[in-house]
Amino acid sequence: MIGSIVIVIADLEQSLRGGDMGIATVNPTTLETIQSFAPLSADQIHAKLALADEAFQSYRQVDFAERSQWLLRAAELLEDPNHRQYYAALMTLEMGKPIQEALGEVKKCAWVCRYYAEQAPAFLANQSVATDAQSSWVCYQPLGIILAVMPWNFPFWQVFRFAAPALMAGNVGVLKHASNVPQCALAIEKIFLEAGFPTGVFQTLLISAQQVEKVVQDPRVKAATLTGSEPAGASLAAIAGRQIKKTVLELGGSDPFIVLESADLEAAVTTAVKARMLNTGQSCIAAKRFIVVDEIADQFIQKFIAAFADLSVGDPMQAHTEIGPLATTAILEELEQQVQTAITHGAQILTGGQRWNGLPGNFYLPTIVAEITADNPIYYQECFGPVALVFRVPDLATAVKLANDSPFGLGASAWTTDPQEHDYLITQLDAGAVFINGMVKSDPRLPFGGIKRSGYGRELGLQGIHEFVNIKTVWVK
Ligand code: NAP
Repeated sequence: MIGSIVIVIADLEQSLRGGDMGIATVNPTTLETIQSFAPLSADQIHAKLALADEAFQSYRQVDFAERSQWLLRAAELLEDPNHRQYYAALMTLEMGKPIQEALGEVKKCAWVCRYYAEQAPAFLANQSVATDAQSSWVCYQPLGIILAVMPWNFPFWQVFRFAAPALMAGNVGVLKHASNVPQCALAIEKIFLEAGFPTGVFQTLLISAQQVEKVVQDPRVKAATLTGSEPAGASLAAIAGRQIKKTVLELGGSDPFIVLESADLEAAVTTAVKARMLNTGQSCIAAKRFIVVDEIADQFIQKFIAAFADLSVGDPMQAHTEIGPLATTAILEELEQQVQTAITHGAQILTGGQRWNGLPGNFYLPTIVAEITADNPIYYQECFGPVALVFRVPDLATAVKLANDSPFGLGASAWTTDPQEHDYLITQLDAGAVFINGMVKSDPRLPFGGIKRSGYGRELGLQGIHEFVNIKTVWVK
């Protein structure tokens, strides 16, 4: 299966030239380099942007019905059982996601395509506003080429949640995907083409991070969105800012997961494990800081440790695997360093705290870290892997204070059956989303994004499709 993925994709794509400039498929389970890809030259980038610009001039005239048909066809391609298996295996090959989760991710991509195919006409319909004019209204028009810089952790989902609304709004997209998922990037381009979108409406640019600057500066590119780390987001926003181009940034997070005395403890523990371990802990909205009130802390921590120890670590291609390798060796080394530094600053390891050596890849054991004081570097850091930080607090107010004591503000989950505590948590937590008695998750129907250093702007929902449009005011007398 893996071999056929590599051969088929490689045969189909002309831009693969076998060079090694850091864009490569490296299997994180075996550390084997499967294939390297030469980055596009300046001339090739220029040609692709010219094609995108030309495509935009006609694509912007295409009506919603036709755009919807193409997006629904993309959903069908994703849902086809053979395709779905193929795309899922490609993700698992390139970044190590457990295969069951990869299959779920492909399904979710189909969902977001269907959602915007159905909802976009209403979201982008003209809105009448009564003024001193004979008639006045607001209409939504596309901007042109939008650059999407995307991360490897959800290699399909991150792209589809950008592309579905952007293309429905009449924009065209160019994708700079993470350097370790080039075959996913090429497969996604192919899906849009096979679905019927005209050539040039969605293109993958196999380029390095350093080449992004030139693309942003190109006058044909009208706006950019980046999902990834803070340094990458800050760099892109600075370049775009100098060009007066809009950006949306979806950056890191260190989401709190607050458990109060009245919580359903079994449900809280089960969800806590899932919320921390999804994608082997490499999710921006993973719960990362577990803040538990003293009354139930002993019980919670005991159950949490037992559940971590039960998780099945191993080959992510196997259906029963729950924890796969980290996507790259650099991520593994950084995580390992974070935990070691935490220990030297007085933290205690309750379980894990070391690599797993059952296979040669980038494996790290599910780990729980406790006794973390505010002067411990890990207190303010994001841990991008299977490492949970546990804090004990005396009461609700202290829990919220600790939760907000973070540079990030992406999501927050809190567990209590007390309605007054719900109100307090919803109003006091500094985050882009608050989930009560549930795990923070993205949903095409709800806006998604953060505050503070987690970024700005929103994806998904009504708000997401309005990010990259000209909100045009019309006044007629
Ligand atoms: P990353 O290094 O920032 O990479 C993300 C993307 O940005 C990649 O395509 C990368 O390309 C590119 N990039 C890196 N530096 C750049 C620069 N200076 N200019 C332009 N592009 C640049 O992120 P990561 O560490 O792989 O991803 C993990 C981070 O993403 C975590 O902090 C996580 O929380 C965050 N994340 C956030 C969300 C969200 O929705 N808020 C979702 C998922 C992940 P190369 O691969 O070529 O370097």
